[in-house]
Amino acid sequence: MRVAVVGGGISGLVAAYRLRRALGASLELTLVERSDRIGGILRTDDIAGDPVDLGAEAFVGRRPEIPALLAELGLSEQLVYPAGKRPLIWSGGAAHPLPERTLMGIPSGPEAVTGLVDEATLARIAAEPDRPLDWVRGGDVSVGALVGDRFGEQVVRRSVDPMLGGVYAGLANSIGVRAALPTLAAALDAGAPNLSRAVADALPPPSTAPVFGGIRDGYRVLLEALLSAAQAKVETATAATGLTRTATGWRLDPVGEVDAVILAAPAPVAAGLLREVAPRAAAAAAGIDLSSSAVVALALPARTALPDNSGILVATGEPLRAKAFTLSSRKWPHLARREVALVRASFGRFGNDSPLSWPDTDLIAAAAADLSTVTGLEIAPLTARVQRWRGGLPQYTPGHIDRVAAIEAGVADLPGLAVAGAYLHGVGVPACAASGTAAAERILTHRA
Ligand SMILES: Cc1cc2nc3c(=O)[nH]c(=O)nc-3n(C[C@H](O)[C@H](O)[C@H](O)COP(=O)(O)OP(=O)(O)OC[C@H]3O[C@@H](n4cnc5c(N)ncnc54)[C@H](O)[C@@H]3O)c2cc1C
Repeated sequence: MRVAVVGGGISGLVAAYRLRRALGASLELTLVERSDRIGGILRTDDIAGDPVDLGAEAFVGRRPEIPALLAELGLSEQLVYPAGKRPLIWSGGAAHPLPERTLMGIPSGPEAVTGLVDEATLARIAAEPDRPLDWVRGGDVSVGALVGDRFGEQVVRRSVDPMLGGVYAGLANSIGVRAALPTLAAALDAGAPNLSRAVADALPPPSTAPVFGGIRDGYRVLLEALLSAAQAKVETATAATGLTRTATGWRLDPVGEVDAVILAAPAPVAAGLLREVAPRAAAAAAGIDLSSSAVVALALPARTALPDNSGILVATGEPLRAKAFTLSSRKWPHLARREVALVRASFGRFGNDSPLSWPDTDLIAAAAADLSTVTGLEIAPLTARVQRWRGGLPQYTPGHIDRVAAIEAGVADLPGLAVAGAYLHGVGVPACAASGTAAAERILTHRA
């Protein structure tokens, strides 16, 4: 069987690996990757002699996919967990503890955000259960519209935006409730009479399990193991440019004729490749916007007295250029042992990608100055690395679930064609890995 995978990010690599595991030597597997390296938004580089992730640096701890992959690949000793410190929110020129027991920053009552928002907002949250809620069952609105209407703009800008900025590089106004907060949408659909109650119903039970997991020597360990196990013919610096059907399968340019194709490239690329063979799916994929961001990794003198927190998220509207800092040396015990203090600063949100066009020197200077502002410390980087992620994160805007359903329905009756990637069922690395596995299973099912 000849299969081509388009895109060498985690989604495509997992798909390739799963196919090889299932089909062994009978599989002729080609992976085409437009850039000159494998990994997509996973990238580990050496800083001050040790590996540091410049894209994703963690995964959600309660999802099983990444620990399972590490175990299958004999890499379980690479699995690490954070120290369990909490982040701060920088708002109104001061640092506040990140509210506890919220759903992506949405509180179920005023106590969670006391100190972060003003008294009038606290009173509004307290009174929210008394206001009738006008929720259309099965409907979708932006998180910003819902929370702004019920709890006020301060909750949006100071509590919700910083959380959504971290996951989607988006803002509450660019992210839809149904795709980003499915348990909240379910609680509202089930008839919760107000937002406070819906959030309380949607919150997972309290848990002492680690919120995140990570990979000790960086994601490159996983990438290399997947690549090696997949035994694919890898063509980097090669963009897939066209997809058509043949009498028995598919023709993917420039690879040639194959029996099956997995498209694991970002939504706009998938849209272009699907245009001829699945126009409705292509139109739906073309409706998915992307946001861009930049990461600046700073290596600071080990003595730098960073706050004892995992990170600092910046509220919308603050006069800073960075949107968040990960205090990596505080967050991860394995990084605390390094000879330098590591911090990652993030820039760029949906609708504002201007920091991506700044020269490296300006980004590094902005990262150091803003870190100095939020910590009150003198920041003197020993070295720094800049990584730009253009179009790195799909925006799950209102209606996203319907767009994804249209994409999947559009390819459902095309045997030997599957899609995978961050724009489908979650942007996190575990969700992307799951989409790669699902795509491989679809190809295997058709074959059977
Ligand atoms: C700054 C940042 C930090 C993040 N942090 C986290 C985190 O800590 N934890 C977490 O779980 N998630 C995180 N994410 C999200 C997560 O990293 C991504 O959603 C995920 O890695 C995407 O994987 P993918 O394979 O679907 O897409 P990608 O990694 O984008 O891979 C797609 C690949 O397709 C290639 N391609 C494009 N066009 C073509 C073509 N025509 N032909 C061939 N190849 C093509 C691209 O070059 C790319 O390599 C982060 C994202 C960003 C941007």
